Amino acid sequence: MSSPQPLIFRKGLDMKDAVAGELAAAYDSALVDRVRGNDFTHSSGRLVVHLAREFGFCYGVDRAVDYAYQARRRFPGRNVFLTGEIIHNPHVNDRLRTEGIRFLSDPTEHPDQLGPDDVVILPAFGVTVTEMARLSNQGCTLVDTTCGSVLNVWKNVVRYAREGFTSIIHGKVKHEETRATASQALKYPHGRYLVVLDREEAGMVCDYIRHGGDREAFLTRFAPAMSPGFDPDVDLERVGCANQTTMLMSESLEIGEMFRAAMRDRYGEEALASRFRAFDTICSATQERQDAVIALLEHERLDLMLVVGGYNSSNTCNLARICAAKVRTYHIADPECMLSGEEIRHRPVGAPSTTAGVEAVTRSWLPGSGPLSVGLTAGASTPNNIVGEVIRKLERFCE
Ligand code: SF4
Repeated sequence: MSSPQPLIFRKGLDMKDAVAGELAAAYDSALVDRVRGNDFTHSSGRLVVHLAREFGFCYGVDRAVDYAYQARRRFPGRNVFLTGEIIHNPHVNDRLRTEGIRFLSDPTEHPDQLGPDDVVILPAFGVTVTEMARLSNQGCTLVDTTCGSVLNVWKNVVRYAREGFTSIIHGKVKHEETRATASQALKYPHGRYLVVLDREEAGMVCDYIRHGGDREAFLTRFAPAMSPGFDPDVDLERVGCANQTTMLMSESLEIGEMFRAAMRDRYGEEALASRFRAFDTICSATQERQDAVIALLEHERLDLMLVVGGYNSSNTCNLARICAAKVRTYHIADPECMLSGEEIRHRPVGAPSTTAGVEAVTRSWLPGSGPLSVGLTAGASTPNNIVGEVIRKLERFCE
């Protein structure tokens, strides 16, 4: 018996107007709008808050959340599921739960028992090829919110696989987006991928390209990060670079150049065209938020920086890394982390972004008197109402 054909919504569900008010009530902030209108500055007593000129919800997240609300309205009598977190923000995910949307990642759910009556929302960072095939075969109605910038990366990875290049993906191997991107390489029988987290890992792979090395040690080191059957002696002969869209832009570019140099050293300049590929797959929203925070750090004299966003949000962690290199920085998940003017809970900058539980408490984080200049930004999955609450709390603590 053939499987029922899935219904896939990729361009909305014609309910945009119906949910616009609900979304605005849930996620907008009049205070943040005022700060924007006041040249991204907010003064209150001894406190001046400088907001980065690009912050918070990106176009991909905006669209994903919008589609989730539309799906709930469009299919009122049916079970509506998310495959997992729609974005890396606990408040947004919790709100969706209160809307009646269920999470297939919950241990109480049974993804293998879904059928044509069920509606499944695919998140902004996409799902793996295997998961997509399973849901399609089950005949579920799919609401695909995969961001266009992620699809652009996939397109390049598929092309690399088709043309016999191994995809070198700068990303976090456990991140949903990187897992989905890597799976695209396996659409072709000889498709290969290798995920590198940072310059250090890229350097190890580049050394292997230049000089070869201990094959077994390489396989052990990168075991969780490469395609099945990966052979570094064969699969690093032709490589193409890609990245998780939310990585540090400067690092992604540098890693691309490291691989270009390694391939040139190994095979010579004239062989580069046939052995090395690179495309700019950095998401413009991530880039704009990183550029804005760099500009803020350059132009304002800040006493400290607050970066707001989920602890497992890659782009938020990278914003915090940029800030921490210049000024005392606290990455907080939400306003509740600001316990008092004395104490703040925060994620230490540089801790692995996949470990949501890593948190520190710092005392005396706010100077008790005198003028105070605080920089503020938020990751691409943080709604404005959360940013507004952070400003309100700062005001209270500085009274
Ligand atoms: S961070 Fe970039 S790739 Fe990710 S959802 Fe937002 S716009 Fe899309």
